[in-house]
This record gives sequence, structure tokens and C-alpha cells, in this order.
Amino acid sequence: MRNENRKRWFSEKQFPSVHLKLLLFLLLVLFGTIPMAIASKGVVAAIQQKQTDARMIEVQNRCQIVSSKMTRTGYLRGEVRDGMIDNELDIIANIYNGRIVVVNRDFRIIRDTFKIAEKRLHIAEEVIRCFQGESSSKYNKEKHYFAQAIPVYRSDSDKTIEGVIVITASTEGILSTVDVVKDKALLFQLIVFFLLMGSALVVVQCLMKPFRVLQSRLNQVADGALDTDICVNTYQETRKISQAVSMTMTKLKEVDQSRQEFVSNVSHELKTPITSIRVLADSLIGMGDVPAELYREFMEDISDEIDRESKIIDDLLALVKMDKSEAELNITQSNINALVEQILKRLRPIANRSKVEVIFESIREVTADVDEVKLSLAITNLVENAIKYNKEDGWVRVTLDADHKFFYIKVADSGIGIPEEVHGRIFERFYRVDKARSRETGGSGLGLAITRSVVLMHKGAIKVSSKEGEGSVFTLRVPLNYIA
Ligand code: ADP
Repeated sequence: MRNENRKRWFSEKQFPSVHLKLLLFLLLVLFGTIPMAIASKGVVAAIQQKQTDARMIEVQNRCQIVSSKMTRTGYLRGEVRDGMIDNELDIIANIYNGRIVVVNRDFRIIRDTFKIAEKRLHIAEEVIRCFQGESSSKYNKEKHYFAQAIPVYRSDSDKTIEGVIVITASTEGILSTVDVVKDKALLFQLIVFFLLMGSALVVVQCLMKPFRVLQSRLNQVADGALDTDICVNTYQETRKISQAVSMTMTKLKEVDQSRQEFVSNVSHELKTPITSIRVLADSLIGMGDVPAELYREFMEDISDEIDRESKIIDDLLALVKMDKSEAELNITQSNINALVEQILKRLRPIANRSKVEVIFESIREVTADVDEVKLSLAITNLVENAIKYNKEDGWVRVTLDADHKFFYIKVADSGIGIPEEVHGRIFERFYRVDKARSRETGGSGLGLAITRSVVLMHKGAIKVSSKEGEGSVFTLRVPLNYIA
């Protein structure tokens, strides 16, 4: 249900059409630049981290050397204070642009390279942790500095921590190096971006070329050059599109050809009775004193020709109606046995005149969803033909049967039969096997075309089996339930 709603929403929404060219171009540029930007950001961050780590290790090593010297000289106990170590501390602090304080066991600062906090208490977390034997070092990313606490032991053999060297150093210097790398990376990205735009333009032009070729060929077709070869086989997609268009064009040509044929057939068929009427009327006029008998005979012939003309027009109108949409069907639940009985009742007098016996064999009672008027017309055409194209003392047998899905009407006759090679053609409009016989019996050549249209409208099927000289069998198969 949700899926259906979504589908309806999408079909109702009118999305603006996009340029495939533009879409491809943007995709190529984006897929090229986004990973590059992410990668260069990662590289810059990695360089910054590596530099900071290296700086911290360097500072730690130097302080550890100083710490060892302090241990050896008893610096914290004030045994030797010759200023050498103080100098070294000042130099380290200067080099790394930082501050070094030395804290003794009482948390009192005994040396500060800034010389502002000496003798003051310094009870910081890193100092306490260092006294507890934990090495401590932290890096503050936001403020760009790191702090390290290095223990100073009593002696090389006695590892009691007597004091702590705390160094705080700025990493601003590293940042400026990283900024240089960043600028270079940005420049590199810009160059690659413009190169990518250029190459994406070329690639898109090349990729779209087959579509442009297809479009220009289709334009030629639209301009009337219907014989243009529109096959573009470069891509599966262009091949499929051109094949689909070719098929549509072939079908359109066929439809156009059959329409032209139909129009010329109709004109010919309508002209034939009129020509006969004219010939008959002209001969009557041409004759001087026409005996009343001859006059009557000619008038009867003229009347027959008018009947034929009117039959052709009626059949054409019926056919045009069939060609309209299926909505024209007026489906009702009908008793097919009664329907066939009624048709045969109407046709029996005609059959009697031709000395043809009409038999109805109803195998079971059938009720089905059909358009009674149209189906009657279809069955009537079949039975009329079976009578018309029969022999003297012949028979017509109509059989009605059904299964759980379809009902079947079989119209068999003992007539002249139909040559096998024209079985496929007899359903065409105006096709007759024997033109003279059809005209004699007042046929329009449209009966079977109408029957087939009706059957197809009911989603059924019609087939013929016949042998010349032995008779014919037409079988209709129609679904019991009409499904639109
Ligand atoms: P028509 O008006 O000429 O009868 P139809 O479309 O009904 O036109 O039939 C087409 C042709 O098929 C007929 O002209 C006839 O030659 C042949 N035909 C149709 N039904 C039969 C049949 N039962 N026996 C022999 N020929 C038949």
C-alpha cells in the first residue's frame, strides 16, 4: 500500500528534466575532488601529529638528561648549584619556547625559568601523578601547548623521587610549518580541480557523443527522412533505444500501409455497386421502347445493388465501432444457449430457402459475461457464411460447450470449404476466396473481420479448420468471465 502511494506520488510529481551532460560532469568533478580534499586533510593532520609527537619526545629526552644530572649533582638537595644546570634549563626553555619549573618534594618551586614563581607552591595534577611514579604528559590541542612532568631521583641506585621537572612548551612553531604544508596542499588541490574540470568536460563530450548522433538521426526522421538508419550501437542503451524506435517506425509504417490499403479497398468496394447501377440505368435510358418486364428486371437488379451498397456501409460502420475502445462493450451476464437459439431461429428461413439443415447441439447450459449485441453479430456472420457457402441439401451444425474458464461455439458445415493456403487471410477486411460467389450471395467481405474483432474484444480466440470441397469448422473460444 505504501509502495503504491509512493509510486503514485512519483508519477503525479512533475520533476524538472536534468541535463545528463551536466550531471555526469558534476559527478566526475565531485568524485575526483572530494576524496582528494579528504586525503589531503588527513595528511596534514598526520604531519601535525607526527611533528608534535617528535617534539614531545625530544623535549622529554633532553629533560631526562637534565634530570640525571640533577640526580648526580644532588641539585634538589642544594649540594652543588654551580649554575650549569640552571643554564641548561634556560636554554631548553628558550629553544622550545616554553617554561620549565623544578618542584621539590614539598611541592615548592625551587627553579622557574620565568623567575616569577620561585619558592611558591605548585600542587598540580601532573606533579602529584609524577611523584606517585606515573609518567605524565599531556597535549592541549586547542591552546597549542604540551606539558610534561619528569621525575628527578635521589640517586642512581635509590629511585625515590625527590623532585619533578615540569616543562610547558608551545607547539605554535609546528603549526606554522603545518600551515605551509596546508597552503601547498590547497594549491595542489586547486590545480588538480581545474585539471579535473577540463578532463571531465572532454570525457563527458566523448561519453555523450553516441547520444548526440542518435538525437541528430532521430531529428532527421522527424524531418521526414523515414529511411534514415537510426542504429547507434556504441552503447547497449543507445542500441536498445534505436531498436525500440526502429520497431515503432516499422509498426507505424505497417499501420499507415494497411490504412492506405483499407481506404483504397473501401473506395473500390463502394464504387462497384454504384458502377453496376450506372450501367443498368444507362442501358435503360439508351433503350428506346423498353417492355415493362425488362424494365422491372433492370429495376430489381438496381435494387439488389443498392442493398449490397447498404450492406457494405452497415458492415463498415459495425467494423469502425469495433475498432473503438473496449469501453464500448456493454457486458451483461447472458444465457448463451438462448442467444444461439434466437440467432438460429432468425436464420433458419434463409437456410430453408437454400435447402440447408441447421442443427443446434447444446452440450451444457452456459451463462457468460458478454456483449449480447456484438456476440450475436459475430455468431450470425459465422452461421450465415456456413449457409451461404454450402451445397444443396447440406447441413450446418452449431455446437455449444464450456469448461470452467471458457465457452466454445463451433460452427461446422458441409459446404465448399476453404483452401488451406488462405486460412490466414479470410479474416482480413474485404478478402474473399471466390469474389464472384461472395458478390452473388451479397457478401461484403467484412463478416469474418467483424467476427474476429468481436472475439478479440471479449479476450477470446477464433480458429478455422477446413478442406476444400469437404466443409469448414469455425471455433470460437470466449472467457466465461470478462476481465477488463
Ligand atoms: P463475405 O461477406 O464475402 O462472406 P466474410 O468476411 O464473411 O466475407 O468471409 C470472407 C471469405 O471467406 C468469404 O468470401 C468466403 O470466400 C470465405 N468463407 C467464409 N466462411 C466460409 C465458409 N463457411 N465456407 C467457405 N468459405 C467461407
